[in-house]
Amino acid sequence: MASRRVVVVGAGITGLVAARELGRDGSLEVICLEASDRIGGQVHTVPAEGALVDVGAEAIHLGAPHIAALADELGLTQSVLGATPGSSVLATRKGLRPLPAGVGPTGPTKIWPVLKSGILSPAGLVRAGLEPLMARKRFTEDLGVGDFTARRFGREVTDTFVDPLLGNLHGGDVHQLSLQATAAQLVPTAANGRSMLLKTLKRPATTPAAPKPGKAPLPMFASWPTGLGTFTEALAAQSKATIRTKAPVEALERIGQQWRVVLADGEAIDADHVLLTTPGPVSSGLLREHCPAAAALYDQVPLVSVATVLLGWRREDVADNPTLRDANGILLPSNRARTFKAATNLTRKWPHLETPLHLLRASVGRDGNTLADDLTDEQLAARVAAEIGELTGLLAAPVFSAVHRWPHSMPQLRPGHKARVAAARQALQELGGISIAGSAVDGLGISSTVKSGQQAAREILTTAKDTQAS
Ligand SMILES: Cc1cc2nc3c(=O)[nH]c(=O)nc-3n(C[C@H](O)[C@H](O)[C@H](O)COP(=O)(O)OP(=O)(O)OC[C@H]3O[C@@H](n4cnc5c(N)ncnc54)[C@H](O)[C@@H]3O)c2cc1C
Repeated sequence: MASRRVVVVGAGITGLVAARELGRDGSLEVICLEASDRIGGQVHTVPAEGALVDVGAEAIHLGAPHIAALADELGLTQSVLGATPGSSVLATRKGLRPLPAGVGPTGPTKIWPVLKSGILSPAGLVRAGLEPLMARKRFTEDLGVGDFTARRFGREVTDTFVDPLLGNLHGGDVHQLSLQATAAQLVPTAANGRSMLLKTLKRPATTPAAPKPGKAPLPMFASWPTGLGTFTEALAAQSKATIRTKAPVEALERIGQQWRVVLADGEAIDADHVLLTTPGPVSSGLLREHCPAAAALYDQVPLVSVATVLLGWRREDVADNPTLRDANGILLPSNRARTFKAATNLTRKWPHLETPLHLLRASVGRDGNTLADDLTDEQLAARVAAEIGELTGLLAAPVFSAVHRWPHSMPQLRPGHKARVAAARQALQELGGISIAGSAVDGLGISSTVKSGQQAAREILTTAKDTQAS
């Protein structure tokens, strides 16, 4: 081999980001192998009713500096589109209510909007107000996010806010999601015993940072007129790596100091380094024979199936419905959800979706239920439409529906995950020539997977340079 060769397995966000980074300085030959007939993995934009609609990830978090920097590098900041200003509504004991300002995935960051919203019961409010006292208990071990927020703010805050926000993002049970792996920003707070409420009361009101001269401020959450596929297509187009689709990797074989990557059709590609960014069961299958300790990591990451249900109504049928007119989305706590757990009011939220129909996209599937596997497309569409009608008072039936399934797609990172990842990476380092990255390892979401791909690429590049120097 003339130059050192790296094979990246999987062309989802992680694999595409890593392959692009690895190929940048031209010192490595990089090949990215993707099993399916398209790149992007869980980013998937499809034509629907005259628009390009995302049926996987829907919004990118440009508020994260590394994502904004990457979008800039890819030349995508000019065309970026922010969501229409507005909030989502939350299903509560009093019906649908606007999500109070300052409520994030891990609970309230401002107390007054929550107090004023009337969403919590008096007992729930009193319990939430005890947070400064409850904060004295320090947690240095990993624990469930929901267990932590319930301890701090009480069960009602956790069930009402944390469950539908953080739980929905992960398709997970918040009591079983690792604080360290899925809510890392809370780890110092858990360990230092300081009150989150008192901190928010003392914090002076912040004004957003002024944009750099000549640059328009970027929206916090964004997409592009041609959907999030724009981002993955740009990553591939601006990559020096060879990206091959319909190239499923079936096995890894050790050949001296190298690894032989064997495809399903028997083709073999020898590599100095292999980066696995594949879903857990695939990565563990490829690793089992060579590094059981690393394979074991994935055995402790259960996967939840989800489905995306697109519904379309005639615009005149929804024009007078306050929720479909004014809210960007609907969130349901687990104790109120029957079939769907969250919905994006696509036509209102994304101004570029100028479709003849009013489109909404609902998600189904959560840790603890198998609805996304069990129900037919017709059952999913009918049940979601009926539940939207009950929640919002909409009488009209949708005239369009489409279901996209994501079987076993959402990794559930349980308490102790970070320590297991460290052990798996240590075992792989001892083996040599194989790295792991992706949502099952470093957390789901575009922000985490971009970071995961960048970090893996940096480490492989460093190893390659060290090897060349020695
Ligand atoms: C319905 C849904 C909605 C979401 N919404 C958002 C959102 O709005 N915002 C956000 O930030 N995140 C969202 N996410 C999460 C985010 O999309 C994912 O965390 C991220 O895209 C995962 O990227 P990845 O590269 O780790 O894995 P994947 O995207 O799963 O990529 C892995 C790739 O490996 C390929 N592969 C599998 N087996 C093999 C093999 N044997 N050989 C070669 N290739 C193989 C797969 O085909 C796939 O392309 C959502 C996810 C889903 C499912």
